[in-house]
Amino acid sequence: MSNMVAIVGRPNVGKSTFFNRLVGTRDAIVDEFSGVTRDRHYGKTEWIGKEFSIIDTGGYVTGSDDVFEDEIRKQVQLAVEEADVIMFVVDTMTGITDMDNDVANLLRKQDRPVFVVANKADTNERKMDASEFYAMGLGEPYPISAMNGSGTGDLLDEVVAKF
Ligand code: GDP
Ligand code: MG
Repeated sequence: MSNMVAIVGRPNVGKSTFFNRLVGTRDAIVDEFSGVTRDRHYGKTEWIGKEFSIIDTGGYVTGSDDVFEDEIRKQVQLAVEEADVIMFVVDTMTGITDMDNDVANLLRKQDRPVFVVANKADTNERKMDASEFYAMGLGEPYPISAMNGSGTGDLLDEVVAKF
């Protein structure tokens, strides 16, 4: 499929909130807590006249760390198979976690373009915190707020340029 963007990342970073903002429907369910099993959600949107599809890879299974890691690996593998571009969402409120590093390690081993999306950058202070995620080795992070929409335009300009 062409012009397909996958949203990946650990639970609670704001993947579904971002998906909802882009797709503009309530199709993706925003979880107030992590560990809830969800199906993948697909949506369509456009930016500066370029149409593209988005996958919210929200599905997770409650369980041990091993199960969690398996789920992450599966999520990233599916994203790489299906998508042309990957948006890797992280959380500027928590900073880099072990699970972020696990996802980053998987993403560095594949060839698709990856955008590090530093979400919850609702304030100027948190926008500056976003540079921390450069250390994951996946390029310059894009600070955004999925909640208020700030930063999303600059990110989407670069994403659609990959099509
Ligand atoms: P997911 O598990 O990655 O899909 O994350 P969700 O979209 O379910 O969001 C997890 C929590 O983070 C929810 O309470 C959201 O309201 C909150 N959240 C998402 N985006 C933002 C944001 O840009 N700023 C803030 N402050 N909170 C956010
Ligand atoms: Mg979700």
